[in-house]
Amino acid sequence: MKLKAPSIDSVTTINDDGSRYIVHPADVRGTFTTLRRVVAVLLIAVYILLPIVRIKGEPLLFLDIFHRKLHLFGLTLMFQDMWLLFFTVSGMAFGLFVITSVAGRLWCGWVCPQTVFLDHVFRRVERWIDGDAPARRRLESAPWSGGKIFKRILKHGIFFLIAALIAHIFLAYFVSIPSLYTMVRTAPAQNWGAFVFATVLTGILYFNFAWFREQFCIIMCPYGRLQSALIDDDTIVVGYDTVRGEPRGKAGTTRGDCVDCRRCVQVCPTGIDIRQGLQLECIACTACIDACDDIMVKLNRPKGLIRHDSMNALTGRAAKFWRPRLFIYIALGIIGAVAFVFAVQQVRPVILSVLRMQGAPYFRDGGSIRNNFMVHLANKRAEAHEYRVTVESEFDSLTAVGASEHGLKLGPGEEVQEPLIMSVPDEKFRGNFDVKVQVRGEGGAVEGERAVPFLGPFREKR
Ligand code: SF4
Ligand code: SF4
Repeated sequence: MKLKAPSIDSVTTINDDGSRYIVHPADVRGTFTTLRRVVAVLLIAVYILLPIVRIKGEPLLFLDIFHRKLHLFGLTLMFQDMWLLFFTVSGMAFGLFVITSVAGRLWCGWVCPQTVFLDHVFRRVERWIDGDAPARRRLESAPWSGGKIFKRILKHGIFFLIAALIAHIFLAYFVSIPSLYTMVRTAPAQNWGAFVFATVLTGILYFNFAWFREQFCIIMCPYGRLQSALIDDDTIVVGYDTVRGEPRGKAGTTRGDCVDCRRCVQVCPTGIDIRQGLQLECIACTACIDACDDIMVKLNRPKGLIRHDSMNALTGRAAKFWRPRLFIYIALGIIGAVAFVFAVQQVRPVILSVLRMQGAPYFRDGGSIRNNFMVHLANKRAEAHEYRVTVESEFDSLTAVGASEHGLKLGPGEEVQEPLIMSVPDEKFRGNFDVKVQVRGEGGAVEGERAVPFLGPFREKR
């Protein structure tokens, strides 16, 4: 099976007849490859440890769907606080904008789960079973034999197991490790939802990492498409120095440093030729940098014919770092960060809501006017806490019974609803007024407050 020559006018991974061209990137060694491997190992460790390691008794990251809570590095957010995630997600998006504007697709090549798992897990298993790139190509075009069938079953069996493992760890982010352990030991019928989720996700991951692979980055990933709007000719990208490299040709025959050995093409996981310029398919994985540096060292020429640099610098034009778009992205990022810090400070350890009970807005009985409310309290602390509900108003004759008469001891994450009945003597009522319902913690400090109107019949003001 021959290596396909990449063309900038077509997608390398699609043959002229529309069929799939399977890319078999060659092995590469070098500084960036080693660094990427270290980063990948750390990221995979983080992925595994986040739902396992506990802080204040809860996992570092746990979206508890059964109790509608999010545990995030010791901070517990109830369902009602989820709006804070808007700042987190938009802050991450602006952060990505800044990084992309400065350093191109750093995310894709170094951090994206697609690249991390594909390059550092699945392709390594493939290399271990099927051999290096030429051996893989030979095996792909070889007729079916006992050896080929054995290798295919072994490889895809391991792929499937790894996909299942990744899917189950992902499920643990929503159900916790102990619950996951219980679920996998019981019949699927007892946990249908979780079983279907894990099965479907395993299937998707297996399909993606075993076959779809770089197609996801080239065809589906929205961030890949967005990058052309986020970067400009001053963005640091992985690029080929045309000034130094051209005209290319065999060593010693030309002035250019590129000897047209095509090592950069052979190692590219998306099958492109970086010498044809920056392309949407480039995920900035740096494999071509290490490959070309290796060739340059062997030829006794300086490294960096392919390197991290701006397109302006790579093509011999003046380059600048600070551009208007960078200021705008950073300003938006700072605004978002300030808003997030402010919003987090507003988060209280208790949720208080006071709702008027259904029925008439007020009642008259026994010489009193009565308003009925329902108090809802939720303890967001990781430990039990006693709360006290108090009622304040300018109307001295207001009395309250129900939730305000006793302390409310709530366990971690526990919620309670209690009626709160307020009354005033009918003859003293002079018109509607506001009442402050407060909830106080064990130290007596006010931790939540709601203003509710006390309603009664219309009275002429005197
Ligand atoms: S690896 Fe370097 S020298 Fe070889 S073809 Fe690519 S750019 Fe030219
Ligand atoms: S061109 Fe280089 S950096 Fe871009 S995807 Fe291919 S090997 Fe990776």
